[in-house]
Amino acid sequence: RTMVIPSRKKWASPSSATTTPTNATPQEPRFLEMVKMHFDKAAQFTDVAPGLLSVIKECNSVVRFNLPLQRDDGSLEIITCYRAQHSHHKLPVKGGTRYADNITISEVEALASLMTFKLAAADVPFGGAKGGIRINPRNYSRSEIERITRRYTLELAKKGFIGPAIDVLGPDMGTDQQVMTWIKDTYTSIYGDKDINAEGCVTGKFKRHGGISGRQESTGLGCYYGIRELLNRKDFCEKAGLSTGIEGKEFNIQGFGAVGSWAAKFLVKDGGKITTIVEWDCAIHKKDGLDVEDVIQWQTNEGSLKNYPHADKVEIENPAKFLEMECDVLLPCAVEKSIHMNNAPNLQCKIIAEGANGPTTVWGEEICEKKGIINIPDLILNGGGVTVSYFEWLKNLQHVSGGKLTRRWEATSKKDLYKFIKGQDAPSIVDDTMGFLRGAKEIDLVYSGLEEIMSNAIHTHFDIALEKNTNMRIAGFSNSIKKVAEAYEDAGFLF
Ligand code: GLU
Repeated sequence: RTMVIPSRKKWASPSSATTTPTNATPQEPRFLEMVKMHFDKAAQFTDVAPGLLSVIKECNSVVRFNLPLQRDDGSLEIITCYRAQHSHHKLPVKGGTRYADNITISEVEALASLMTFKLAAADVPFGGAKGGIRINPRNYSRSEIERITRRYTLELAKKGFIGPAIDVLGPDMGTDQQVMTWIKDTYTSIYGDKDINAEGCVTGKFKRHGGISGRQESTGLGCYYGIRELLNRKDFCEKAGLSTGIEGKEFNIQGFGAVGSWAAKFLVKDGGKITTIVEWDCAIHKKDGLDVEDVIQWQTNEGSLKNYPHADKVEIENPAKFLEMECDVLLPCAVEKSIHMNNAPNLQCKIIAEGANGPTTVWGEEICEKKGIINIPDLILNGGGVTVSYFEWLKNLQHVSGGKLTRRWEATSKKDLYKFIKGQDAPSIVDDTMGFLRGAKEIDLVYSGLEEIMSNAIHTHFDIALEKNTNMRIAGFSNSIKKVAEAYEDAGFLF
């Protein structure tokens, strides 16, 4: 006998349209499970005791709350919000704020835990966190988004989930400088009189509100630095079966937003060719390489690449299919689980460079490894955004505005500047050989600081992978787990 399951009547909320299709197969582990599987695999490469491993693995605190929103037309709606603080081994905790209609509490936990390991990999001294609101921002007016954002901030403040010394929010998918500035404005209007550092409760703000130059492009720029450093290494390129250097290499980029479009710009400057761009609603391909500036212009004007006229091929039915286009480097810069057991067998790239968080599933990765595709994992490659957020937070705590900072630093000698950045006297070779002394403007400091942190992280973890005869994800996770374990052990557990 077959059992008949009555179909439930669906209530179509205004936010039910999906912005970000996830095309992973349902049989594969959930995202949170997946991150834990990566963790478990890497934990075997450490000598951290099992008890401490479980302390590190689990998410420390999570809040979920519903807010009422009165929409512009007067109707009422419930908005579901989250914030997860994964690890308090360092304070404050830090992580982005995602506005997406398919976000869940377990996804936020997974993303928060990835932040912990990403921050540890780059030696940025924060614990990991992440927040989210379950809305499709395209379906709400700016003033509705402002009201949701301000109320979200207020609730987080009441619950101890925001503050410059507790939990520092940042941008992520679906949020921008405006949203970050509303968060700052709300928080400072409540706590500004009691907390002189209130401005540091959020990063990614407009410059006039304590933001920093270069934050917008920082994640894409960090990806570029990471890719450049590895492609300049003979041992890496031999493994990947490629010649060295970015010049002439073909790149396939999924997600042409804040991360992908900036990564593309920097890669093209070094002679890379962007042959394919995969968006959520269409994909475009051009064998000789797309004109990135022209694509950005088109997307800004038209809101979509569907009718982009200067491509050899445009795919609208199944854009994700174009992930399988031949290229040297595939850069998933969109959502998690884009590369999975169904499409991994068809991929025709030599390298996967993860601009997004969690774009490759565990099973997808196993297939890629068998095919000899090298993965440069998220926790090492996409830390550029949060690294520059760290610079912004430091700037906020120092209470300097951009202009003053620039003037002061411009007046500083190169050797003093070196000392200021590195905390030690400049060597005599400092003048031309050190890339970060090209100028004394804030933007140069940000770029050079990021370049140094990304280069260190990428080389260190590739070397660990070689030494331990494993992949870079395990190298990254295991090294970060060790650092977090040491921090917990130093502090003790006497509470
Ligand atoms: N959304 C960024 C990430 O996933 C971090 C945002 C921030 O806190 O700066 O790394």
